[in-house]
Amino acid sequence: MQENIECLRCLICGKEYAPDDVQYICPDHNLDGTLDVNYNYDNIKKIFDLHTLKKNLDFSMWRYKSLMPITENISPPPLRVGWTPLYHSNHFVNKFNLKNVWIKDEGQQPTGSLKDRASALAIVKAQEAKATIIATASTGNAGAALSGLSASANQKNIIFLPESAPRAKIAQLQVYGSTIILVNGSYDDAFNLCRSACELYGWYNRNTGYNPYMSEGKKTVAYEICEQLIWNAPDLIIVSVGDGCIIGAVHKGLKDLLALGWINKMPRLVGVQAAGSNYLTQAWENDEYLQIKPAIKANTIADSISAGLPRDRFKAMNAVTQSDGVFVTVTDDEILAAIPELASNTGVFAEPAGAASLAGLKKCLEKNLIKSDENVVLINTGNGLKDIKSSQQAIDKFKSTAHLVNPDIQALKSIEKFFPI
Ligand SMILES: *Cc1c(COP(=O)(O)O)cnc(C)c1O
Ligand SMILES: [Zn+2]
Repeated sequence: MQENIECLRCLICGKEYAPDDVQYICPDHNLDGTLDVNYNYDNIKKIFDLHTLKKNLDFSMWRYKSLMPITENISPPPLRVGWTPLYHSNHFVNKFNLKNVWIKDEGQQPTGSLKDRASALAIVKAQEAKATIIATASTGNAGAALSGLSASANQKNIIFLPESAPRAKIAQLQVYGSTIILVNGSYDDAFNLCRSACELYGWYNRNTGYNPYMSEGKKTVAYEICEQLIWNAPDLIIVSVGDGCIIGAVHKGLKDLLALGWINKMPRLVGVQAAGSNYLTQAWENDEYLQIKPAIKANTIADSISAGLPRDRFKAMNAVTQSDGVFVTVTDDEILAAIPELASNTGVFAEPAGAASLAGLKKCLEKNLIKSDENVVLINTGNGLKDIKSSQQAIDKFKSTAHLVNPDIQALKSIEKFFPI
């Protein structure tokens, strides 16, 4: 057993398991029995401290491997995952009258989304489990992440996608050479088929909200934010929510840092959901019991946060309630408008689910949920180049700045009034 892990604990019944005794979920609670990995911080403190970290020149997510569910002699996939930039935005400080606003740009990950953090860890765990094939269901980005990282590590993999996944995202998997199964059905159907196939063929299952270790990869984004802010935790972290794995992981990372004494407060976590896919906002607002609330019909332009039954809903709900945070809902139009607003003010080009964090910030300001002396971090979860169609739609709708001229200087002069001054 690994020295740094204490147990895996079921979020429903609290039953504790040794990592070797259970692979994915609590056997007593089936799909609801998401497991949380619990660490022995005393053991970790013996080998890992801020001084050790500061000397570490590995600027990737693996700089925190002592806080991850892996043995020390791991060989992670070659692609560099993590240590994405945290940009300060003076524009947004002035525009929104806040103390500080930063954008954590996960669009800079090797396959263009935060999912790389989870898939990189999944490949290590699959190797530990001696599985020859690793599989996942995905709406696009989780698959791309597994696909690209697998390509770099020479790992055989199979991706299950709903047939409706954006063509560009499917193309990304195809160039990486994955085996792709397009499921004639929803993401939920793809998820269930993938799970049955993993059981039948003995493949390693990376599915979000099912494999307990995915949160443990994604939580490194919270470590980085805090390290980049020299361990001054922000007041708020705003992130979009589909399955809820990311927000749960951000919470987990912050809890680790609090337990180690590296930060001294828990930031309020803001979960941003699309109006057409707001299961968790509904449950949070109406105090609904997650074990019985049925799936909703999800429909939003932000395909990465379209989830009728959020797979990691228990961790996501804990993240918001335990951090004194909120869930907010934004419309597809607000999400679309946020794409050019984020890009033109900060240079960060986000896909709809990434820009949703900015739409969420504006919603919080509207509702007076943030004070002007507070520090805010927005997470851009995915690169805008993944979904050009949506940004074209946003431009058509909110901002058209292309001017057609004949190729001569007089013609150009005739549109001088459009030049920036
Ligand atoms: C997966 C994803 C999300 C949402 O993460 P969940 O864990 O499903 O809540 C948000 N944005 C992007 C770009 C994603 O790929
Ligand atoms: Zn249980």
